[in-house]
Order: sequence, then C-alpha cells, then structure tokens
Amino acid sequence: MGRSASIDRALDVLLSDEQASIVDLVLCARDGVVEAHAHDGSVSFTRRGEVTSVKGRNPLERQDPSAFSPLDDEMQHVRPTNETNHYPYAYDNAAQLFDDPRAPDLAVVHTPAHNWEERGGHRGEHGSLDLIQSRAPLIVSGTGVKKLGRIDREARMISVAPTLATLAGVQPLDGSILRAQEGRLLEEIIDAREQPDHVVGFLWDGANANVLYTMAEAGDLPNVARLMNEGTTYGRGCIASFPSVTLANHTTALTGAHPGRHGVLHNFFFDRATGRQIVTNSPDTWHDARDEISRDVETLFEAVARSGGGFTAAVNEPVDRGAGYATFDLVRAARGSGATMSSALPDPTTVAGATQAFVDLKREYGWATSADHLAVMQAKQVWAGQNGNPTPRFMWINLILPDAANHAGGPYSDIGHAGLRDTDRRMGEILDAMDWGGGGTAFLLVADHGMEESDPECKGDFDDALTAAGVSFRDEGYGFIYLDP
Ligand SMILES: [Zn+2]
Repeated sequence: MGRSASIDRALDVLLSDEQASIVDLVLCARDGVVEAHAHDGSVSFTRRGEVTSVKGRNPLERQDPSAFSPLDDEMQHVRPTNETNHYPYAYDNAAQLFDDPRAPDLAVVHTPAHNWEERGGHRGEHGSLDLIQSRAPLIVSGTGVKKLGRIDREARMISVAPTLATLAGVQPLDGSILRAQEGRLLEEIIDAREQPDHVVGFLWDGANANVLYTMAEAGDLPNVARLMNEGTTYGRGCIASFPSVTLANHTTALTGAHPGRHGVLHNFFFDRATGRQIVTNSPDTWHDARDEISRDVETLFEAVARSGGGFTAAVNEPVDRGAGYATFDLVRAARGSGATMSSALPDPTTVAGATQAFVDLKREYGWATSADHLAVMQAKQVWAGQNGNPTPRFMWINLILPDAANHAGGPYSDIGHAGLRDTDRRMGEILDAMDWGGGGTAFLLVADHGMEESDPECKGDFDDALTAAGVSFRDEGYGFIYLDP
C-alpha cells in the first residue's frame, strides 16, 4: 500500500464515531499541503497559512487567542469540543512540525477530555494544539521593560528568545536577532531608554496562565505579583508551538524557532532514516537532550556569547547548549559513574518551604520539589559568583514543580495551587538573594505550555482501534503515528 493510501486507512479508523470522544484532530502532510481532520470535516492549508480546501466543517476555523479568559471564563468552558474550542495560530503551528523529515505521518491531537492515565497520562494534561494547553503565562519586568500592567494581548513562544536577546544586548545577524528565529521582538514592551546589565528568565513548567495571574492578583503569589506590578503581563498569555510538550517548547523559548526547525519535535519521536527512537524528556536523558537541537539554530546562550556579551547560566535547564554554567554539565561530567539527575537530589521531606502534605501524597511532587530546591541553591551560588564566575549577563532558571503538581490534580486543584505557591516562594528566595537584580536587571517569567483538566470518565485508546483494524504503525509519545515503520 502506498503512503497516501495508508494515511487514508488510518484516518478512517481515527475519525470514526467510536473515537470522537478522544480524538480531537488528526494532522498530516502530503502533496505539499498540511491537512487537519476531525470526525465531521477537514481543512487543507500551506505553511504560509493559505487554506486550499475545506470539506465539511473546518475544524480549525476558530482561532481566537482572547477566548477563555480570564479564569472565570476559562472555567465556564472546561473541556470544549472541537466545535466550541479555539486553536490560535493553528495553520502555522500545525504546519511547522512537518518541516522536519522526522515528523510523524499522523499527529493525533487528543480531545481536552481524554484521560489516558493507563498510558502514562494525567488528570491535568497538555500537548494539544488547543488554546488552554497552548496558553502559557508571560510576564516581563524590570529594567528596560515598559510598565504597562496587564495588557489585552498575546505573544507566541517563538517571540520569547528574540525579546530576551534584545534585552541582553545581542547583536542582530542580517536583520535577524537570533540566527534562525521565527518569532518577533516584542517591541511593544521594550523601553529603549534603559539597557539592563543583566537578564534573568524563569520558566515555570506547565503553569496555566489564567490560574497564575488570578492567584497573583489575589495575593497568593506575592513574588509573581511584584513582577507583574513592575512590568507588563500578556493577559492572553504566550501561545506555545505544537506539540505543546515540554522540551519542544523549552527549545522554542530559548531559540525563537519552532520545533519543526530546531529539531526537538516531541518528548519522544522516531527517525525513520536511521531507525532510531529519540527520547528527550526523561530524567535519564535530559542531560543529552541538547544533542538533538539542530546546529542551524542558535540558543540564547550562544547568541550572548557571539555578541561578546558575558557570562551565561542555565539552571536546571536541559536546553543549555553554549551556557557558561549548566546544571546538566554536572551530570554529564559524572556520566561514567552512571549518574543521572536523580542521583544528585536531596530527600524532599527535608526541603524547607515545601508543602509536605503533597510531598507525602505524590512521588512526582516530591521529586520536583527536590530538583527545584537544588535549582534555588545553584541560582543563588551562580549569581553570587561562588563558582569563581562573574555575575551572569543572562541567567535562565527552570522550575518544574508546577508541571508535576498540575499533572497530578489538574490546574484548578489544591495540589496544583500548592505547586504554584511553593514555586513562588522558591522564586522569591532567588530574587531576594539577588536583591531583585540590584536595579539593573530585566526579568521574564514564562511557562513552556499551559495545562488543561481532563475528564476521568473519558477513557479509550485509539491505538487499540488502529491495531484491531490491522494498521501497521508505531506510536511515539502517544500521538505521533509512524505508518508501516
Ligand atoms: Zn512542560
């Protein structure tokens, strides 16, 4: 069977009525166009966003980034169906994936309701093209940043790196700030009268934007609130690239390029040409994940170095190529001894300031607590120059507890909220130790993706249906389908 016929056969299974509660969309590329299919219609489009055909209902018609905001509105529209959901920048976000020849034949987008805990999923989930799973918070603050408060706009993940690079004084290359950037400088927030001496970025993995903003404004996250009060907050959030998974979007935030260009396509994917399964996002592989980043793109750490800009640090961040200090250098240096991230971590029950009730309840909460506690120690040491280093020109700190906590209970749960409160305390400890940058520092807070609450009653496995229909495939990361592998 030819590739196109194999695709059609798999689509028949995935788009059947039996799968409609768990399969939101199926994306694929053939004959130079990208296709998005739902059970009752499909749309074909180009990488430039030109729609070439629609059959039935266009499943990507609704793309309003201002929908489901603020939090009250989001919670009145939980788990939208494809007919009522929104997919901001959907044509560009979907099409970019297929720029990489290692993209799957079919990318299955789960419905927001689909709960696949039997296959490693969680109560809170992300990865989809939809608004709530794609919407990260974005706050920019401090020296060189306009104090516009909360603005009624959204940004995109591809625009984070060019903006940080400009604040850090990176010299443009042929009109582009970073070598392979696809985003834009968020010039609306830049105050060109001031150039910061230092730039500090915080990534709160898996934080839901509306929940973060609402808790900060209610006084529940005082350090986030202080950043918001002294800068600009994108009220509609920061829209992740597809798939809205962790390392794909960490890499996008730190390069300004989409996954289809920077090469970290997913947490798991497959290279048909070499027969190699690529695993990036796992405690056993994080320290090598940067080897998958294309040499055609430039990380922020490399761009600062190219500009002669000074010392850089990547704390708890796997996307650390070019950083002067990198947490994962410590793991890489100890590789021969079998060391991984886990072997360096303290016992979470001894970590001060952690919500111990959830450390006891959920192993992932404890693990992330330990990792973030270590990150706080390292960030403070690096800022103080305790490794014999100068104060960083650019420092990036990845805090992973929000993702673990939101996965465990969903973004509206007590455990999810506790994860944000613990993380606010940790970020505050770092900011206090650096005296909030001493008056010459710009700050940015972003997540890598959003988080949406699944429905524990909505079960099912589309892979079982493909297998039962005799389709030959391998599935990476539960959604990247490679046919006739
Ligand atoms: Zn993540």
